[in-house]
Amino acid sequence: MFLKGKTALVTGSTSGIGLAYAKALAVEGANIVINGFGDADAIEAERKALEETSGAKAVYSDADLTKPERIEEMMKLAAQEFGGVDILINNAGTQHVDPIEDFPVDKWDLIIALNLTSSFHTVRHAVPYMKERRWGRIIATASAHSKAASPFKTAYVTAKHGLAGFTKTIALELAEHGITANAISPGYVWTSLVENQIPDTMKARGMSREDVINKVLLEGQPTKQFVTPEQVAALALYLCRDEAAQITGANLSIDGGWTAE
Ligand code: NAD
Repeated sequence: MFLKGKTALVTGSTSGIGLAYAKALAVEGANIVINGFGDADAIEAERKALEETSGAKAVYSDADLTKPERIEEMMKLAAQEFGGVDILINNAGTQHVDPIEDFPVDKWDLIIALNLTSSFHTVRHAVPYMKERRWGRIIATASAHSKAASPFKTAYVTAKHGLAGFTKTIALELAEHGITANAISPGYVWTSLVENQIPDTMKARGMSREDVINKVLLEGQPTKQFVTPEQVAALALYLCRDEAAQITGANLSIDGGWTAE
């Protein structure tokens, strides 16, 4: 249990990749702050399960990360419970698929706020404690879309490219403080985020569900397989190890070869 005594905060950890991160961190004994939306009973069951796994404490914040004041509250909760956050994983995100001329302005604003700006706020609140301890790990779930574009995803591609630039910048700023900052860039991972964009993609491209899965989603992924949330979490866990202390400012692909093309 190499994370015993450390605290990890994972945004958007009530499902998908975020929940897989939380579970992997719990196996190594970390205190965890989980965050995100969903059914209250299901979230409470996950929170308890994390504590059983870790033998440490897990708390839940229902902060809506599009609201800077709610982010501040979440970071204060972590400080009250645990003193601060040693491992920060910025993972919450959402998607919307539409041609540029039809792209709803509120969806653009939501995706930029959640997928990009929320990380600025969590990081600025987390860094003073990490600097004090001279140890920290900041990880962003970026995306293959932080390196390559796809049509009809303007807001998402813009936000993820921004997140990659943000991560490189803080890596340089924090390099002499024992704090690393890296992005993990998955290709398609089978989660609700992918499931939910299938109907819109069917509409935007005039395709069947099967064609969207095979000709759009897996078309660009040379292995023709979805990445699993557990594979992404294992990479994040590696970044938390002392062996990874010299990995910083990296944008690590886990995309079945997508961005090799
Ligand atoms: P998901 O929909 O399963 O998880 C998203 C999480 O974010 C959930 O916990 C949800 O409750 C939370 N969330 C949504 N809006 C929020 C808000 N306003 N405030 C706080 N929390 C909010 O999706 P996922 O696929 O696990 O996505 C996680 C991250 O991985 C996202 O940043 C996504 O862009 C990225 N990603 C996903 C894939 C993929 O193929 N699934 C690929 C590359 C990158």
